[in-house]
Amino acid sequence: MRVLLVEDETALQEALRDILNANRYTVDCCETGTDALDLMCSGSYDLVLLDRMLPGLDGLSVLRQARDAGVHTPVLMLTALDAVGDRVAGLDAGADDYLPKPFATEELLARIRALCRRPAELEPNESLCRGDLTLQPKLRLLTGPAGTHSLSGRECAMLELLMRNAGSVVSRERILLHVWGPDSEVESGNIDNYIHLVRRRLKLVGSHTVLQTRRGAGYCLEVPVC
Ligand code: CA
Repeated sequence: MRVLLVEDETALQEALRDILNANRYTVDCCETGTDALDLMCSGSYDLVLLDRMLPGLDGLSVLRQARDAGVHTPVLMLTALDAVGDRVAGLDAGADDYLPKPFATEELLARIRALCRRPAELEPNESLCRGDLTLQPKLRLLTGPAGTHSLSGRECAMLELLMRNAGSVVSRERILLHVWGPDSEVESGNIDNYIHLVRRRLKLVGSHTVLQTRRGAGYCLEVPVC
């Protein structure tokens, strides 16, 4: 179970991360709405704990934009605002559940378990199609004219980001954030290695899509018109 924890209060973020780790959840953390939206769109998470009051883009806007972008991951919204109107606004924006702060650890864990029990058949098996490529992020499968290959988690995350932004330049910083997360200390050469791996995958599935290097700017997936 991979959980994205979006919380800008450092002490609370650390406390929640420790609780989740102790209960065998894998946790990635971020502090801002912009990072949250980017990570949610990666499709890499089974659950999102989303604080409502965030610097910059607030939790409600993050949620609306993520749902508009087709993100179906269950979201539990955490907030100090507990008026009925605030709860309704959270649920209307696409939250699956809403937990006012302060909350008891046991209640948080129970609500997480409840959200994770959603029947698998309700989970849309999302496919992302660009040109001659089809990516199934949940299954980590890439299909092209020559067949289907399975991808590693990072290859899949990188390719999904590039496919969602096909035709546009994606910066190395954005790839770092999306694939390795905000707290990673990954070396620049790792991106080059993964770009190389992704190019090999494109070739393996017989795709005519080209992953271009734009020196000093980033990378661009160029999809030929079929
Ligand atoms: Ca906050």
